[in-house]
Amino acid sequence: MSQLHGIVTVAHTSPYAFECITPETDEPDSSPMKRYSAFAIAREAFFGHKNWERAWRKAQPKARYDVVIVGAGGHGLATAYYLGKNFGITNVAVIEKGWLGGGNTGRNTTIIRSNYLQDPSAAIYEKARSLYETMSQDLNYNVMFSPRGVMMLAQTEHEVRGYLRTAHANALQGVETRFITPREVKEIVPIINLDGPRYPVLGALWQERAGSARHDAVAWGYARACSAMGMDIIQQCAVTGVTQEAGRVTGVQTTKGDISCEKLGIVVAGHSGDLANMAGFRLPLESVPLQALVSEPIKPIMNCVVMANTVHGYMSQSDKGEMVIGGGTDGYNGFTQRGSFHHVEETVRALIETFPMLSRLKMLRQWGGIVDVTGDRSPILSKTPLEGCFINSGWGTGGFKAIPGSGWGFAELMARGQSPLTDEFSMSRFREGKFIDESVAAGVAH
Ligand SMILES: Cc1cc2nc3c(=O)[nH]c(=O)nc-3n(C[C@H](O)[C@H](O)[C@H](O)COP(=O)(O)OP(=O)(O)OC[C@H]3O[C@@H](n4cnc5c(N)ncnc54)[C@H](O)[C@@H]3O)c2cc1C
Repeated sequence: MSQLHGIVTVAHTSPYAFECITPETDEPDSSPMKRYSAFAIAREAFFGHKNWERAWRKAQPKARYDVVIVGAGGHGLATAYYLGKNFGITNVAVIEKGWLGGGNTGRNTTIIRSNYLQDPSAAIYEKARSLYETMSQDLNYNVMFSPRGVMMLAQTEHEVRGYLRTAHANALQGVETRFITPREVKEIVPIINLDGPRYPVLGALWQERAGSARHDAVAWGYARACSAMGMDIIQQCAVTGVTQEAGRVTGVQTTKGDISCEKLGIVVAGHSGDLANMAGFRLPLESVPLQALVSEPIKPIMNCVVMANTVHGYMSQSDKGEMVIGGGTDGYNGFTQRGSFHHVEETVRALIETFPMLSRLKMLRQWGGIVDVTGDRSPILSKTPLEGCFINSGWGTGGFKAIPGSGWGFAELMARGQSPLTDEFSMSRFREGKFIDESVAAGVAH
């Protein structure tokens, strides 16, 4: 996993994680896949862990599929999975220009929560959060969902009012969250400094069943389940063009040849603008780098996720002991997936006031991803002007948490032409002025 700059929260206890990144060959593999189980671990241990099969089949593109999904990140793979599971559509290819999970899905800080302000957001994020609860069992793959709680600090009177409003909205939406006092904050996070000179802690929005999961395991688990249904996941294959006839999509051009399809799903996060351009329409979003970093590993000091949106920083502790730290997006558009020093300085400086003990920590590594940000900070899950072509984008800095809910709704949209989870997230909302404004409620927006 050396190329993946994501945060590895814990070492896998079986070698299947490494199986899946062995180099691709052109040999297609059609052997059936075995289920993982305690018995399988014992059996493979007996044989010295030499017989683990590949986590998913190697695949080369066929000439035609019912559905082609571009982008093997979490959202693309989840879409393929629910197309198969919920609608029996399995003649599907997921096409990835790099390695699967190598985009934002393998670069994010893994925060999962659903306490958004607006009803359509709460619905899709809560659907996702609830699917995370049973994902490991559903996929037969340990995604290490850890509902350790997410705390969003209120450090100004304005934030107190904003979070109280969100807590009330969430109560009406059936999303479990509550506003807690500074004393409760200190009980849950003893290392916090409540009396910061500039920004004291005045309370927090607390979602107890929110948390985190292992990001690349989510991609791997969906990939394996898709492969088991007979779908093709084609890596190292960039889509270079979208073909169409009489206003309807007919296929894609790729670096491995042309592929025709009935329906096309574009799920490429920071590259959505490029793909939309190939398909002949424009999207109301911008691509911006977002960075994160981790510290050296230390003993357990914090067992929930804390976000401090006023100072623009957030933090959790990985199972390995590293402090996982992130902040806001870079202040300019770009396509770099690197870290930069000014970001480390700004983010760590912001957090030190609230967590003074951080000043003694060494930072270990940093990285960046390209996020696709819309004007109302809500995603786009929509039909497009090109018939048969659908777009899933605009998750910005906070789409990891949404992966299962997004895949569920987008699959329904692609299969049936409509989904209650995605109705409000259509592209047309920008023309019609029906924004789903999450810019205040989301803050740093993870
Ligand atoms: C530093 C950072 C921290 C974050 N923290 C959080 C967080 O804590 N919580 C949270 O909920 N979200 C977070 N996010 C956001 C989250 O990571 C994304 O919203 C989410 O992962 C997007 O998933 P995706 O599947 O849409 O995109 P990706 O995982 O980026 O997948 C898109 C894929 O499309 C492929 N692709 C692009 N162009 C082509 C092409 N032409 N042909 C074929 N394939 C192509 C790419 O290679 C990529 O693999 C963070 C993001 C970053 C960068």
